[in-house]
Amino acid sequence: MKNSEIEAATAYIGLGSNLDNPAEQIKSARAAIASLTDVKELAFSGLYQSPPMGPQDQPDYLNAVMAVETHRPPINLLRCLQAIENKHGRIRKAERWGARTLDLDLLIYGDQQIETPELTVPHPGLAERSFVLYPLAEIAPWVSVPGKGNIAELIAKCPLNGLGRLL
Ligand code: ATP
Ligand code: MG
Ligand code: MG
Repeated sequence: MKNSEIEAATAYIGLGSNLDNPAEQIKSARAAIASLTDVKELAFSGLYQSPPMGPQDQPDYLNAVMAVETHRPPINLLRCLQAIENKHGRIRKAERWGARTLDLDLLIYGDQQIETPELTVPHPGLAERSFVLYPLAEIAPWVSVPGKGNIAELIAKCPLNGLGRLL
């Protein structure tokens, strides 16, 4: 069965960068995602700046959230996102949450809940991360996060933690 024959789902992707001109990384990643076959951009949030999670000896991050309509199955979409990360010079180091040129996380895929070694959806960090919840609420204030509740409830429990919207 071809991807184009699979029923379309709305997915949300979190973009983050803190190396090598983050604004350009995000812009170029957006274009790369939007030009994937069987993926159509629906919405893109503003750009947000956030202090790093984990190791503090790295620059602040630039973050955004993108909504897409896709006929690609979740694991297939994840692999496309990883290929785009690699093309943007992502180097995976042993250190968790270290600096990177580009991080693309699959936040939500339709109403699906997935737990495999390679992919957990909704993204496990989503409910605790202001740099995900606030841009997500900007483009999809109605969204319900499968297994976690609606976005307004999640935001009410998640302080900004230094997050700021740019532009
Ligand atoms: P975090 O996932 O806490 O934001 P990270 O984005 O820095 O951390 P990565 O190094 O980008 O983590 O990814 C580590 C692994 O997470 C990947 O190999 C991927 O298979 C797995 N993974 C599981 N669920 C997801 C998801 N929803 N989106 C992206 N990667 C995921
Ligand atoms: Mg991440
Ligand atoms: Mg990631």
